[in-house]
Amino acid sequence: MRLILNESTNTVHRARHDTGDQVADCGALRHVTHREVHPLEEADLESESADERAINRCGRCFDGYGGY
Ligand SMILES: [Zn+2]
Repeated sequence: MRLILNESTNTVHRARHDTGDQVADCGALRHVTHREVHPLEEADLESESADERAINRCGRCFDGYGGY
């Protein structure tokens, strides 16, 4: 699964499949500059460094995370 990290909010989203752009499945990154978003592998999210960086999962892209 391709993921994308928004560095300005430290939140990871699922990458949308139908475009080459780094746009989140939920559409959240549409207005974020490419400089602030980075591709991420799911394995990276499970790593210890991800824990240390306290990366959040988008509640709309990941069931069971985040919320309102
Ligand atoms: Zn999202």
